[in-house]
Amino acid sequence: MIVNRILSLKGRDVATIDPGQTLSEAARVLAERRIGALLIVDGHRPVAGIITERDIVRAIALHGAKALEEPVSRYMTEKVLTCTSETTINHVMELMTQQKFRHVPVVESGRLSGIISIGDVVKLRLEEVEAETQAIKEYIATA
Ligand code: AMP
Repeated sequence: MIVNRILSLKGRDVATIDPGQTLSEAARVLAERRIGALLIVDGHRPVAGIITERDIVRAIALHGAKALEEPVSRYMTEKVLTCTSETTINHVMELMTQQKFRHVPVVESGRLSGIISIGDVVKLRLEEVEAETQAIKEYIATA
C-alpha cells in the first residue's frame, strides 16, 4: 500500500502559512481547520518548514504568552522529512515512529502535493485489518 492511496481518499489539500505570520495566527488556523500542523511556504522551496501544535505549546512553555506574537519562522522545524506518493505506508509509519512526529508532507516534482498525518495512517490500517478479518470469516464460513 502506498501514500497515493491515502491521498486519493482524503485529497491533496495542504494548509500552509507564511513564515512572517505569528504563532497566534497559526494557532487560529489549526483550531479553525481542526488540524495539527501547518506547512510554511516561502516561494523558494516546496517546504520551508513545519509548525505543529506541539511547537506552539513548547514555545509558550519556554517563552510565555508573548511567543504568540512572534513569527512562526522562529519556532518552526526547518529540516522537514517528506515522502512521495509512491512511498509505502509502512515506510511512513516507520518514519513517524522513529522520528517521533505525526506528520509527513508529500512532495512531488519539487511541489508540495499533500500531507499524511498519523490519523490518516491509523484509519487506513484499521480499514485493512477489518477487510482482512472479514475475508478470513468468509473463508472459514465457506470452507
Ligand atoms: P508532531 O508530532 O507532528 O506534532 O511534531 C513533533 C515535532 O516534530 C515538532 O517539532 C514538529 O515541528 C516536528 N515535525 C513534525 N513533522 C515533521 C516532519 N515531517 N519532518 C521534520 N520535523 C517534523
